[in-house]
Amino acid sequence: MYGEFKNYLSNELSIIEESGLYKKERIICSPQSAEIQAGNRSVLNFCANNYLGLSNSPRLVEAAKKAMDIRGFGMSSVRFICGTQDIHKELESAVSKYFKTEDTILYAACFDANGGVFEPLFSEEDAIISDSLNHASIIDGVRLCRAKRYRYANADMNELENCLKEAQAQRFRIIVTDGVFSMDGNVAPMDKICELAKKYNSLVMVDECHSAGVIGKTGRGVSELFDVYGQIDIYTGTFGKAFGGGIGGFTTGRREIIDMLRQRSRPYLFSNSIPPAVVGASLEAFRVLDESDELHSRLVNNVEYFRNRMINAGFDIKPTQSAICAVMLYDAKLSQDFAATMLDEGIYVTGFYFPVVPKGQARIRVQLSAAHTREHLDKCIDAFIKTAKNTVGTAK
Ligand SMILES: *Cc1c(COP(=O)(O)O)cnc(C)c1O
Repeated sequence: MYGEFKNYLSNELSIIEESGLYKKERIICSPQSAEIQAGNRSVLNFCANNYLGLSNSPRLVEAAKKAMDIRGFGMSSVRFICGTQDIHKELESAVSKYFKTEDTILYAACFDANGGVFEPLFSEEDAIISDSLNHASIIDGVRLCRAKRYRYANADMNELENCLKEAQAQRFRIIVTDGVFSMDGNVAPMDKICELAKKYNSLVMVDECHSAGVIGKTGRGVSELFDVYGQIDIYTGTFGKAFGGGIGGFTTGRREIIDMLRQRSRPYLFSNSIPPAVVGASLEAFRVLDESDELHSRLVNNVEYFRNRMINAGFDIKPTQSAICAVMLYDAKLSQDFAATMLDEGIYVTGFYFPVVPKGQARIRVQLSAAHTREHLDKCIDAFIKTAKNTVGTAK
């Protein structure tokens, strides 16, 4: 049998390759950091989700080792059989404290948190109203649930309101949105979303993967930024980005919702517990952030510095409200050539084009980090300026 199937796959793979969408992986031979060893050269890294620079924090590395010393390597169990240690409960409390919520449930990834949040809570009598640019894991999670689906254009409050009107036909409604959208770096208008939710009697869920640790006065995410504490029923998030970049995700929010997820959420019930090393380091990340706002304020300063210098240099930057900065080039091929030239200059950034972003909206996505020094930022901006000068057809 495999012969025929192999031919089919080879053919499909070559179509992917010919359309320029084949994903190749660059091998990193160093810890994740502002400066990484990619292949046999050192480059400045502007494409990790290492927003607070904690991925290689000595404190987190030490905490991971210590947790392994006192609680071992693996759990060999799901949470409800024999996979819950004291430190898992501690981490759940730390997340609840950070988001000012009632309870938290851990998952192996935020992909699982989003995959397992809808089906246990909602049925065919209910409605899920989802932003069109929501993360793939939300889309998959919604697919696993029998609720009626509504979709509104990215952050479009008129369309959302229309969906809410239609969805009055259902029993319960929930509005679901990313906090920060990963391609433009824009923030969901949570103040308006919460207002509409109140007006149309809807629940609210926000995925804080790119927003937690980043937006709000001290980085506490959308509720801090918009002061909507108490108005969001469900938050999902990851330990894989700002909070140390290890692995793992969580859902946090109202007590009964979290309790129901512990009873019925399939990725929680049927998948292994997070290993102690990851739990220990993630706990340490929350301790670091509890002690001081230093990393977050360094990130905010870096974003501001980068954006201002790039705008002054004439680049077309999407009006970011996060640590994601989309440098618009519009042309797909140009975005790829541009990123390749930047790498030659020692700057690692990623070019995105259709279908990841809309046609004619190709861009370089720059992700800033508290780990970047002023010198790193200047090198990156200078490389942008030099590359733009040398690349024919640049939007600049
Ligand atoms: C990264 C991301 C996820 C997935 O998080 P993992 O913990 O890596 O599975 C989910 N939602 C959003 C919005 C993300 O950016």
